[in-house]
Amino acid sequence: MRISVTNLDREPLGTTLVDECERPEHVTLQGTDRIIDLQWDGALDEHGRLHRCVVCGCREIFKRYDFPQRFGLLLVIAAAIASIVLFARGQALWAMGVLLGAVVIDRIVYVFTKECLVCYRCRSEFRETCIDSSHEPWDLAIGEKYRPARQAAADPNQHPDTGALP
Ligand SMILES: [Zn+2]
Repeated sequence: MRISVTNLDREPLGTTLVDECERPEHVTLQGTDRIIDLQWDGALDEHGRLHRCVVCGCREIFKRYDFPQRFGLLLVIAAAIASIVLFARGQALWAMGVLLGAVVIDRIVYVFTKECLVCYRCRSEFRETCIDSSHEPWDLAIGEKYRPARQAAADPNQHPDTGALP
């Protein structure tokens, strides 16, 4: 399993490659001298599937497509601008073709993109591990529980003590 390690402020610290069968208690991040502790208690189920973050011990993780979100956003923006320009020039057929092309590219990338697991709390990412239907995708209600404190403080609707929304 490859882990992209982040701290509790969700700042990237580095990556490491871990053998789940060995369950090492300490690992060194690649390219650094930094050693981190891993928490394996209850992290893997009986089939060896990860269901708990080994970096921070959070009990909730979600799966997502391991797709560079900036690329997707850039694709949508580029297609929108190109089609608006083409529509303005009266080339509606070309404009529709650009939009259709963007959809086709998006679907092709989606099909060939693998999934990864992400910790709700620290946002460490876990790749090259078993991911199946026992893993749930992102859930907004759970995500709200782990929203960073500085974002929560900026939200005037949030309860000041618990961090929970009313
Ligand atoms: Zn975590």
